[in-house]
Amino acid sequence: MDTIMVLKFGGSSVADNKKLELVAKRIAKIYDKGQKIVVVLSAQGKTTDKLIKEAQELSNNVENRELDALLSCGEQMSTAKLSILLNYMGYPAISLTGWQAGIFTTNNNQNANIIKIDTSRILKELNSGKIVIIAGFQGIDENLDITTLGRGGSDTTAVAVAAALNSENCYIFSDVDGVYTADPDKVENTKKLENLSYEEMMQLSSEGAKVLHNRCVEIGEKFKIPIITKSSFNDKPGTIISEKIEENIVKSIIKKDVSRVAIIGNGIIRNFDLIKKVIEFIEKEKLELLKFEISEAKISLVFKNIIDDGKINELHDLIF
Ligand code: ADP
Ligand code: ASP
Ligand code: MG
Repeated sequence: MDTIMVLKFGGSSVADNKKLELVAKRIAKIYDKGQKIVVVLSAQGKTTDKLIKEAQELSNNVENRELDALLSCGEQMSTAKLSILLNYMGYPAISLTGWQAGIFTTNNNQNANIIKIDTSRILKELNSGKIVIIAGFQGIDENLDITTLGRGGSDTTAVAVAAALNSENCYIFSDVDGVYTADPDKVENTKKLENLSYEEMMQLSSEGAKVLHNRCVEIGEKFKIPIITKSSFNDKPGTIISEKIEENIVKSIIKKDVSRVAIIGNGIIRNFDLIKKVIEFIEKEKLELLKFEISEAKISLVFKNIIDDGKINELHDLIF
């Protein structure tokens, strides 16, 4: 079987028609090389936030089932639009909802887990030469009710689909061209990382770095699918998340909420130089610690003080 390329584009990458067109052109270029392509798409821009707000305007007790019925529309719109655009450009494309793509999940609305993917429809469409565009973030449960996978869940759809199709890897395209030493939106002087292990990325995601949904990393690790994060809008090399383990290299710092900070990197527990720097920083800044915990790949700090972005910038510059 030819390898199938799975490409996921996030909400900010398809926020308006112009961006949708750039994404369509990128897909068309790959298709022209004879590649079989499955695209997983998020809802456009802030659509999901808007739908949640609209539901809440109608009721202060929105049923979980109905909320998922509503939220899933965001991805149905974006996938249909991309398909319309590709077809107009002369490329055969078809959009599939979660259930049409055979994505079966548990029944816990807004946080469902993918149980299995019946790939028969996807393969049928690929074999007839189509570019298959799947609605991310959604599936159906045992009652054929629509479920969603949790905010940011399209990443998980993409990696699960890549695993089900035995793809070599899964590309996640976003407004950021990789995973950085800290959130580039909040911290200055961040650097792009070439590699991260699944474990390191899971730690980052579970601390709240929304660049990847944490369940997609778990699936990547389980099925040994390297996840490649890249920019939707340029060809710069991105970050590869795989089994590759680098010892003692500090990878990323993240602020979880006003007073919780985590520093991630495999073997961090043996990186005495780094630990010393962190302790000296805490003493110099006269910060009060409520918790200092070190595990194999993470230092977790909980402060009594509010840690502003300026402090994170300083700590970032000190350790990178
Ligand atoms: P998408 O819409 O493509 O799914 P997200 O907004 O979910 O994209 O994730 C990308 C965002 O994640 C970036 O814009 C960035 O602000 C944020 N982010 C947080 N931490 C990091 C990090 N360490 N590296 C890169 N991006 C990060
Ligand atoms: N549209 C959903 C969200 O905004 C899923 C996703 O974008 O991955 O959370
Ligand atoms: Mg996301």
